[in-house]
Parts: sequence; C-alpha cells; structure tokens
Amino acid sequence: MSLADLPTKFQAYTRTSIRSARQWDWMAPELQEAVTVLSTVLPFRTNAYVLDQLIDWNRVPDDPIWRLVFPHRDMLPPEDYARLKQLVLGQPDPDRLATYVTALRLRMNPHPAGQMTHNVPSFEGAQLRGIQHKYRETVLFFPGAGQTCHAYCTFCFRWPQFVGMDDYKFDARASHELVAYLRAHPHVSDVLITGGDPMIMNARALAAVIEPLLVPELGHVQNIRIGTKSLAYWPQRFVTDRDADEVLQLFEKVVASGRQLAIMGHYSHAAELRPAVAQRAVRRILGTGATVRMQAPLIRHVNEDPASWVELWTTGVRLGAIPYYMFVERDTGPREYFALPLARAYEVFSEAYRQVSGLARTVRGPSMSAFPGKVLIDGLPTIGGEKVFALQFLQARDASLVRQPFYARFDPQATWLDQLKPAFGAERFPFELAAPRIVPLHPTSALAA
Ligand SMILES: *Cc1c(COP(=O)(O)O)cnc(C)c1O
Ligand code: SF4
Repeated sequence: MSLADLPTKFQAYTRTSIRSARQWDWMAPELQEAVTVLSTVLPFRTNAYVLDQLIDWNRVPDDPIWRLVFPHRDMLPPEDYARLKQLVLGQPDPDRLATYVTALRLRMNPHPAGQMTHNVPSFEGAQLRGIQHKYRETVLFFPGAGQTCHAYCTFCFRWPQFVGMDDYKFDARASHELVAYLRAHPHVSDVLITGGDPMIMNARALAAVIEPLLVPELGHVQNIRIGTKSLAYWPQRFVTDRDADEVLQLFEKVVASGRQLAIMGHYSHAAELRPAVAQRAVRRILGTGATVRMQAPLIRHVNEDPASWVELWTTGVRLGAIPYYMFVERDTGPREYFALPLARAYEVFSEAYRQVSGLARTVRGPSMSAFPGKVLIDGLPTIGGEKVFALQFLQARDASLVRQPFYARFDPQATWLDQLKPAFGAERFPFELAAPRIVPLHPTSALAA
C-alpha cells in the first residue's frame, strides 16, 4: 500500500466508539462480548491505522497486535469475569458496577516497584509530582499533557492514569519545576520524557517541555530521551501529521544544542515495523540527527516467538535504529495472562540474540525493572551441581551493585524477582544485605532514592 492510501487523520476508537469501526463485525460474538465486558476494567483505545495496517484479521484472536490492543476474557479469573459480565450486561446498577470495577483495578497493583512512594523526589519542601528520580544520572519527567497514548496496550501498568483514577495520576502542569530541580542536581545527565506518550502532544506543547532544557545552565543535561509508542501505533506523527515537520525541527534544535536526542521507540512486535510509513518515520527522525532505540517487554500471546524479535531487531538495525532493552513483563495488570516464566524469557531472548549480528546485540535482556533496580537474567548455569539463575543489575538504586553477578536458585515457574531465593545456601541477596544506601544527590535535596 502506498503512503497516499493510509489513514492520515487520526481516528481513535474506544469502548464507546469501537462499534463504528468496520472491523468490529469481523470479531466473533464471544470476542465482542469479552471486549464489551472487560473494557469496563481494562480500558482499551486503538486507532484506524492499527486496525487497518497492523492487525491480520484472518488470525484474530491469535493475532499478536489484536492481543496487544483488545482485552481477552482470560485476563480475569472465570468467577470474576462471570460477575463482571452480569454487572455489565445484566440489570443496570451503575453503583455496584463502579464499586466492583474499582476493586478489580486495585487488585491489579497499579503502581508496582515502589514508583509512587519511593521515586518521587521533593525539592524545597514540596513533593514534585510529574518527576521521578530513581537512578542517579537519569530523571524521568511525565508532562501533564502527555499522559495518554495513541492506543493502549493491554499489559500496560500506566492505565490508572488514563482512566480518571486521580489519586494515582502522575501530573506535571509545567516544566519549570523540572528545570529548577535539574539546576540543583548537576549529576543528572539524562532526562527521560515519558508518559503515557509524550508524542501525543502537539509540537508546541512538546517544545514547551523541551526547549527550557536547552539553556546553558543545564549544560550537564547531555541526553534527552523521549519514550514513545507512536512509532509503532501512529508513525504518521513523524510523516504526515500537520505538525510533523515542526516536530522534526524541534528535534534538530535539540541536536544543534550539542545534546543527544534519543527517541526510545516502544516496539512490541515485528509487525509494527513492517509498514512503509513506520520505516519512513524512523528514517525521518534519524535525518534530524536524533537516534532511535527499540525496547519492549516480552509478553505471552504477543511476542514470545523469537522470530518476531529477530525480524524487529534486524529491520531496526537496517534502518539505523539501535536495539536497547527486552523487559520482563512487570508485576501488574492482568499479569497471569501475559507473564512468562523467567526461564522461558531467557530462552526467548537468547534464541533471538543468537540469530542476529553484533550490530543488533546492543540489546540487553531479559531485564526486570524491580524495586532495587533493573535485574538482568544472564544465564541458567549449573555451578557446583546446583542449577541457578545468573543475575546482575543493569541499574540499581545502590550503584555499587551494578554489574556484580549474583545467583538465585533455579525455579522453572518463577516470573519475578520477589519469587526468587538466593542460591548456594546464602541467606540474602546482595541488595538485601543492608538498607539501600541513600546518597544525597545534592545537599539541598531530600531525595527518596
Ligand atoms: C530504566 C529506567 C531508567 C533509565 O535507565 P537506563 O538504563 O539508563 O536506560 C531511568 N529511571 C527508571 C525509573 C528506569 O526504570
Ligand atoms: S504505549 Fe506505553 S504507556 Fe501507552 S498504553 Fe502502551 S505500554 Fe502503556
């Protein structure tokens, strides 16, 4: 299909409008029912490009992108599904439905790994909403206007902020608090602008976040990253959107300031990089002097086939993108549905990694973003007769732990760090030996690292 035939006007579909998409009728009645019932708890949002270009409707419900976008009934235990179905499709009782929906959502652990309590810094006595600072060199910024996405992923841990659960919402009205914080923290070299998806913002709003970071007083901020799913779900953002050129000019401006601009593209499946417009988007971004990196979690039903990763990484490398992280799906959301055992994650990663050239072996994984840091599963060796997980930190609250090997007893079922036990008779893991050392990043900050 030529670029001229593609949807260029963004058209979102949600629970309330999906019936107006022609593809709705292509779903079997039981799939329609599950989508109707489950989307009260797990909101979905998609768009015409995803429906037209990324989903192979002959393969639904097993198509990976369909699984990525639409909720499936196995995401809830059967008794919960039955009760929810009764409340959604039976006698209307909005209050009981709302109460049950909230209860189910809270059970899904909306902010895992201590994000809300442990990574939000305070500055001059005030908690800085919209900023997270977990690792010494990198500050995360959640611009208020970037807290939704072109489409939602069913596995996403950020959905509370999309569905009006206001107590859980990250929000930052302006970037001036960020600038003040960065001024006072000269060790911070990287700012990662994230969401939701910051690329949902128009060029002007994006400039309002980024341009204040380019001043000489913030010379220590050498790298600006933007985390985005738009390259996969709406690559038109960089090609045919009305302000696409303006966005690219902003990227050029960051590069001209002497900084690296890294676009962290969240690609979950090879299908997302097949359309010509998706490849064109990567090329256009690279043309500004920015870089593109590729990262995604490993998700059962979506991308557990190593061949998909091989295709994704090799296509990306050919275009000039850099494979970066493969994550282990985190401990949140409908995780029984999506989680793969760590041992299997290691096999998927290794099998894909073995098939690509060194240019794609910049990728690291599988990695768990857990409370103490990013933990890489490095191998499944047998040492002294004991089968173990070889692990190491890629990032840690306590930086001295980074790249130090440590070992856990092999457990074929384990899906997350908190299920692992130290190997070789040790009582604790290295990160449990002492209270995390909280190194003040700046004398004026009371940072909860
Ligand atoms: C992954 C992550 C970062 C960035 O880590 P890099 O290894 O530099 O990509 C920063 N902050 C948090 C909270 C993270 O999870
Ligand atoms: S694009 Fe990212 S933030 Fe948005 S729904 Fe998907 S995983 Fe969540």
